[in-house]
Amino acid sequence: MIGIDCSSGRPDTPVLNPLSAFSNALPLAYVRAIEQAGGLPLILPLVQKPDLIAQMLDRIDGLLLSGGYDVDPAYFGQEPHPNLGTIDVDRDRFESVIVPLALKKKGFPILGICRGIQSLNVFAGGTLFQDLSQIEGRLVKHRQSTDRPHVTHEIEIERDSLMRKIFRKTRLRVNSYHHQAVDALAPGFIVTARSRDGVIEAIEKPGERFVLGIQAHPEHLASEYPEFGRLFRAFVDAARR
Ligand code: MN
Repeated sequence: MIGIDCSSGRPDTPVLNPLSAFSNALPLAYVRAIEQAGGLPLILPLVQKPDLIAQMLDRIDGLLLSGGYDVDPAYFGQEPHPNLGTIDVDRDRFESVIVPLALKKKGFPILGICRGIQSLNVFAGGTLFQDLSQIEGRLVKHRQSTDRPHVTHEIEIERDSLMRKIFRKTRLRVNSYHHQAVDALAPGFIVTARSRDGVIEAIEKPGERFVLGIQAHPEHLASEYPEFGRLFRAFVDAARR
């Protein structure tokens, strides 16, 4: 049973009035990827009471932190950068509770995708580049203008990592839809993939069964590229044990 968290607001336009906000805004691709991998996906609504969030966590076998809007930089002690995008207050609050609780459960599998690698890092104690323009040097294009199931830039995968075990290669081409990235790593985490410009594209927590964040959108690649299907299967298998 894989709990997938979701965004508030409409998927297309952010809603400013909290009473008209939507819960459970989640692209279907996440659901499909988990069911194709043999898991039972359950969408987690953005409840506020910490004890309810703890109860949710007790009922699921793995947590998928999905993509979404930007994390409020106040959670990592920074003022907002001019290029900071929409922030999702309800979701930040939810993840600020569920991520530390999930990390406290030894062996509990967590997969973070896009915003999910970022929220995993922030709510475990790390920081983000609020916009890739904060990084000096020549960047590759991380916000591709091409369809999601198409891979556009390369990442280099570290040895002795879950990423390497799953993808079985050093270089991998991924899709890319992000304007933020992991900056300072959360304690206990390691970087396991970077793009050619040095931007962090995957992180893991060694010593855990499966705690992995990836900056790309593998849920859009899983049906076409077998190695991305393996990522979801490895996650669901970790949740089965
Ligand atoms: Mn990228």
